[in-house]
Amino acid sequence: MQLIKDYVKVNKYTRPKMKLLGVKGIVIHWTATPNATPKNERDYFNGTAIADKTFASAHIFVDRKEARLIIPLDEVAYHANDKPSKVTKLKATASYYKGGNANLTSIGVEMCVEKNGTIHPDTIDNAVEVVADLCKKYGLSENDIYRHYDVSGKNCPAPFVSDPKKFVAFKSDVKKKLSPSVKKESPVKTAAKPKASKQKTVIVKVSELYTYKSANWNDKGQIVKKGEAFTIAKELTVSGSKMYQLKSGLYITANTKYVSVK
Ligand SMILES: [Zn+2]
Repeated sequence: MQLIKDYVKVNKYTRPKMKLLGVKGIVIHWTATPNATPKNERDYFNGTAIADKTFASAHIFVDRKEARLIIPLDEVAYHANDKPSKVTKLKATASYYKGGNANLTSIGVEMCVEKNGTIHPDTIDNAVEVVADLCKKYGLSENDIYRHYDVSGKNCPAPFVSDPKKFVAFKSDVKKKLSPSVKKESPVKTAAKPKASKQKTVIVKVSELYTYKSANWNDKGQIVKKGEAFTIAKELTVSGSKMYQLKSGLYITANTKYVSVK
């Protein structure tokens, strides 16, 4: 699958321009940000993340439609060293990045999330293709693919942690693409069935808006952008003002000055 090259600018928070020591594994993530496209993610790591001094990034972001490469494949991205690597072969250190661990030895691939908080099957198919291509490029096998969870214990990608069978299936799909004897056309994708649910969506009306990590106006989380939409889990009143709890677990204001509901 074609990678769209769309690098973020060199900066110490999201693209430190350190050399990878080599590629010994591929680490799979999910963005945990409903409705954010690879382009949204690239713009976040090229803007807000730097302004907020957030040491984070990943090499490739995949959704239903595309795969976007935002950090060159020979450079370090800050995606899997929130805790020292539990995977021995990914442990590493360098003079310029002490204890860099898996960030020095792996490529991070992020799967984007639908507005209802799930990963679309087409996104997973595209990630399989991207990861298979990386395995070919670096001489790796399906046994060199790890969840972020395997590396550091983080709940990522959450759907592959709560249901490990999904990760087993992912690796076996990569393996099929790696074995030269089984070369076949990718199957025709069936259109997703429209959901008959009556779930309500909240849409951001202003250019930037804080979310909250809990039902507390002081517990600010990430910033969301105009036009982004999120599935509402429930409405609640906090300190006299209404807020929505989102299906993703985050909270957002219900003030119609800032958001609309569909
Ligand atoms: Zn992750």
